[in-house]
Formats: sequence, structure tokens, C-alpha cells
Amino acid sequence: MPGGWVTSTAAVGVIMSGLETTEGSCKVARRRKKADDTPGVAAPKPAPGELEIIQSLVNTASREGGPDVLATPRDLARWLANRGLVPTGTELTEEERRRALEVREGLGALLWANSGGEPDREALRRLDRATADARFQAHFDETGPIGFEPASAGLDNALGRLLEIVVMARREGRWSLLKACWRPECRRAFYDTSQASVGRWCCQRCGNRARGRRHRGSG
Ligand SMILES: [Zn+2]
Repeated sequence: MPGGWVTSTAAVGVIMSGLETTEGSCKVARRRKKADDTPGVAAPKPAPGELEIIQSLVNTASREGGPDVLATPRDLARWLANRGLVPTGTELTEEERRRALEVREGLGALLWANSGGEPDREALRRLDRATADARFQAHFDETGPIGFEPASAGLDNALGRLLEIVVMARREGRWSLLKACWRPECRRAFYDTSQASVGRWCCQRCGNRARGRRHRGSG
């Protein structure tokens, strides 16, 4: 048998890490300003390797009155093609865009849980459903199975690649460092590079605002 099939639900477990967090350092990355980043919002420092794709996807959502970067099926197709997740020129439907947004929302819920927040279990159920058709094939060498790779087509293959990135990051111990900003109005994805991994906010601006609010609330 050349390979085995598993569904995405089996491939992706969910770990809720109840981290006690405090503010860490967050430098705004100015060098990386892609055309499809949210206009007017400086991107947080990118996560390492392919984990940046997950961070970037979560950060395409509309925030604080800004536009949704994935507002149309064409926007989504372009975003995925820019990252090599679908071939250039792929056409997607509105139903596929809706499914991709459920994946984005579910990943955001996982990052919120990584920050110590209460996980949105309904969003996680929608994530399960939205990726139910993403399939994986096991690959073998002479030593046995060496891993799973997405083996669907179109959007499902792209969603499978996203799940594979999450699984790999968990295996390598980096997943819990991708967090959602603790300021509720922001919730942007950031990679926590603070010592002891106790960062709470995506940037100093959010940290300052949160502290200012707390100060006013107690005074
Ligand atoms: Zn923030």
C-alpha cells in the first residue's frame, strides 16, 4: 500500500495552553509590507518559516474598521496563489471563500487559546467542518512512514497545507508561541519572541493602550 488517508480532524489535535502572560517586546516590522496586508495597519513581526502564513491569514480579517483582505473569492484566490497554496489563476466560489473564512476564524480561536483566552468551541467545530474534505497521504521510505502530505485538490489542498503547517509547528514546539493580541479590539496574530514566552500584545501600541485603560479603570 503506497500511502494511507486520514481526515483533517484526525490530523489536527487541539492543545489549549493556559499560559499566564504578561507583556513582551514587539517590534513592528516595517520592511515587509505586502500589497495584501491590511491597509493602514503595521504588520507585527512575522513568525518564522511557514508559520508566517498562518499568522498572515489570521491577520487578513477586518479589524477596528479596516477592510477584510479576503472580501471576495478573487481576493482569496490571489492571496492563496501568492503563497503557492493554489495555482495562479485559480477560480474560487463564494462557498469556498466562506469555508476559508471559517478556517481563518478557527485558527484565530486557537491563537486566542494560545494567549490564555477562553477557546471559542463553536469556532473550532466550524474549523473541523470546513476542513473535513482535506485529505492527507502518508509517505514512506525504507524506514517506514515519514509524514503526511495534503492530497486533495483546489481549496481543500490549500486548507490541508495550512493544517500541515499547524501540525508541524506543534511538533516543533513553535505553535504555542503564535498568539492573538490580548487587546480584544485587536486580536492580531503575533509571534511571541519575549523571554519566557510571556508576551501579551502584538505591539507596544496595544500594550500601552491596554495599560492606559487599566489605569483609568482603577483610578
Ligand atoms: Zn494588538
